[in-house]
Amino acid sequence: MAADRSSMMASNAKPAPDAATSATVLPPWSRRLAPALLVAVIALLPLLPVPEFWITQLNYIGMFALVALGLVLLTGVGGLTSFGQAAFVGVGAYATALLSARYGLSPWLGLVVGMAVTLVISLVLALITLRMSGHYLPLATIAWALSLNFTIANLEVLGKYDGLLGVPAIELFGLSLADGRAIYYLIWLFAILGAIAVRNLLDSRPGRAIRALGGATVMAESMGVSTFRYKVVIFLIAAQLASVSGWLFAHVQRTVNPSPFGLKMGIEYLFMAVVGGVSSVWGAFVGAGVFKIIEDQLKELLPRLLGSNGNFEIIVLGVVLVLMLKYAPKGLWPSLQAWIARRWPTPPRARDWDGAAALPARAKPEAGTVLLKVDKLRKQFGGLVAVNDVSFELRAGEIMGLIGPNGAGKSTTFNLISGVLSATSGQLHFAGESVTGLPSRQIARRGLSRTFQHVKMIADMTVLENVALGGYLRSRSGTGRAMLRLDREEERRLFAEAEAQLRRIGMQDHLHELAGNLALGPQRLMEIARALCSDPSLLLLDEPAAGLRLKEKQSLAAVLRQLRAEGMSILLVEHDMDFVMGLTDRIVVMEFGTKLIEGTPAEVQASPEVRAAYLGTEH
Ligand code: ADP
Ligand code: MG
Repeated sequence: MAADRSSMMASNAKPAPDAATSATVLPPWSRRLAPALLVAVIALLPLLPVPEFWITQLNYIGMFALVALGLVLLTGVGGLTSFGQAAFVGVGAYATALLSARYGLSPWLGLVVGMAVTLVISLVLALITLRMSGHYLPLATIAWALSLNFTIANLEVLGKYDGLLGVPAIELFGLSLADGRAIYYLIWLFAILGAIAVRNLLDSRPGRAIRALGGATVMAESMGVSTFRYKVVIFLIAAQLASVSGWLFAHVQRTVNPSPFGLKMGIEYLFMAVVGGVSSVWGAFVGAGVFKIIEDQLKELLPRLLGSNGNFEIIVLGVVLVLMLKYAPKGLWPSLQAWIARRWPTPPRARDWDGAAALPARAKPEAGTVLLKVDKLRKQFGGLVAVNDVSFELRAGEIMGLIGPNGAGKSTTFNLISGVLSATSGQLHFAGESVTGLPSRQIARRGLSRTFQHVKMIADMTVLENVALGGYLRSRSGTGRAMLRLDREEERRLFAEAEAQLRRIGMQDHLHELAGNLALGPQRLMEIARALCSDPSLLLLDEPAAGLRLKEKQSLAAVLRQLRAEGMSILLVEHDMDFVMGLTDRIVVMEFGTKLIEGTPAEVQASPEVRAAYLGTEH
């Protein structure tokens, strides 16, 4: 039953009242059977007497799904909305059409050239536009989609608005893929390989960084991730998938012209991704299928109902999109998946990391040396001085407390030290060098890790995966390795480390729960495990004991003492005075952004100023 429960959570399904009786965990081989059956059906379909019409439909669905797959990654997971994917489809289509129709070169060369040209264009666009935030990015995608399309339609060499005729069929091993049933195999091969690659990517080291883009970028940067880099990466991948789809499209249609690569189609690709489910790989296929079928039916039905030949289907699609966003904002596939998961719960991630080699570890600084030097650090928010020329030193191997009433500037101080915020003035030295002005990921690289007062996590990822993100800087597998599944050995090492840290903090029973389903206390513990997973020499904990029960607080204190004994240095903010006084070696007290005093717990407790500060503000 315990396994059932955690896997129900892992699939994020609300258990139905009868879930306990109707759900059966299928044996592992049957989980592999379903995809195998699907592949068999796809492979056999053209051999059966299926009408040509349906083969054509399936060809389009496969090509659309490739583009939608890119949007799943870009928009669904990464949170970057693009209306411009059709333009990349156009680049892929025109590149091959030009080379093969006009210059008689091989379509396979056209594929390579199309992908290369797409790479250059998408890289330039990414570097220009991906730093934009909010609504500016979607607007920018509209702008470049229009201008790319306009460029294509006005180039003499590309046949202007008439396009290029006489695109040859693709040949493979001397076999012509002119027939719909023949190219069907190539289309679906690419579509399935694309889906597998994206799925592999999402379940990997770079994948966890990508999954943080949707709303946990501050946390990811603090774990050493360059979030901008991954935005560029997913933008390039989405463009490549679109380009390949365009290559197929050109050789299916045997002619190209600008209209299928315009803004309207760009919107429709987004529609497919949203309908299917913007954050699931298989949703791209559901979305492409639903879109193609609805579109065709509407094209037949609407003129008959409305009596003329308008573009009514776009209006209906628009209405469907709005309804979807209102009633099923996550798309169709997640609902379907939840239904499947209720009947056949997914077992937790197979435990394959026993005996994995340890990740590389950092040499700890010698006890007693100055590890962190905060020198006249200042932060102003407009007229408010949140941190007012604060100075203190932290020595390796000690636990230092930072206390003070609410609003004293403790969290802001943490943000300055960890590089989440940049200081108005003042100096920071860490591990023997100046880190003043460095971004958080650079400071993380030097051995500082932290937790947040308001928990920052990837809610739809399991606890184990969230903690594994902490090991980002101790691992190196990149996007290519991840897509090809060449990263499994390192993944085993990461998960072994993540589990060890969760075990240390007493969370070994929650490995496979979704982080978002945990109570606040365990979420905080998970953050500590994530920070530990980066093997820091300095750990910054912002109110780690808030939301914990007494027993949990006591075991947390024991863990922190143990860490200190192992050579870790800790700076912590905490309101629970028993916790702070019993644990810390020295304490800095802040009030109104200013350092009040610094001393041992006994000295601080005896200080009349500290009493006044607390009594003055709390009563
Ligand atoms: P503490 O953690 O000690 O409770 P904080 O560091 O969170 O205090 O806040 C210190 C002061 O700075 C508070 O008055 C708070 O309202 C203000 N502050 C914190 N962050 C910001 C921000 N991003 N913009 C403006 N004011 C802020
Ligand atoms: Mg705070």
